[in-house]
Amino acid sequence: MEEPVVESVRYHAPCKDCGARLECWGVHGLIGGSLRWDVESVCSGCGQTTADCGQELPTWLRERLLADHGSGTLQVTDPSVERVTAMRVLRAALGVGLTEAKTVVGRVLAGAYMGTLPEMEYLARKLCGAGVDAVAARP
Ligand SMILES: [Zn+2]
Repeated sequence: MEEPVVESVRYHAPCKDCGARLECWGVHGLIGGSLRWDVESVCSGCGQTTADCGQELPTWLRERLLADHGSGTLQVTDPSVERVTAMRVLRAALGVGLTEAKTVVGRVLAGAYMGTLPEMEYLARKLCGAGVDAVAARP
């Protein structure tokens, strides 16, 4: 079983129902081989609780996580990497087209590809699974 990589963030927002302060807790992680996120909140005024979750990380939550934890980078440690293999893996993992995958590989090889640590870990594991030595790291 692979180690989960999880990041979480605590924040506040106004309650939609009563305007009091919502205590919110957002979690994003690589769990059981796939990326997922969830958010829970409890209102300090009316006691309303909400929960939401999914796989595609919402932009606002991603930005909060990046602001709190900083970004991770994806590093390919083998300089003689097969670009074609890396491109195929990243294309499938990210669901992007050929042109974009080519750009991503260029940025990965330059050490300039960044995202949340769980996202980078997800891609690193996919690359390792295809025989490309890659690691997710904090810059
Ligand atoms: Zn409320």
